Amino acid sequence: MCRHVPRCPASDAPDCEAARPVAHFPEQGWSFLCNGVLLFEDTGILLPDGAVIPPHRAQAAA
Ligand SMILES: [Zn+2]
Repeated sequence: MCRHVPRCPASDAPDCEAARPVAHFPEQGWSFLCNGVLLFEDTGILLPDGAVIPPHRAQAAA
């Protein structure tokens, strides 16, 4: 799915949210990343397999 060079982190990588957004919907508060991850404004994550990672803003700001 990802064609960036170097490749973005996979959706199951710890830093999956570092992948590049391919679609951004600020009015709805989420972005779609090239690895299939949905990244929400509150730093919550929805993985392609349906798993959810709760918001972790403190870590994202570090
Ligand atoms: Zn990518």
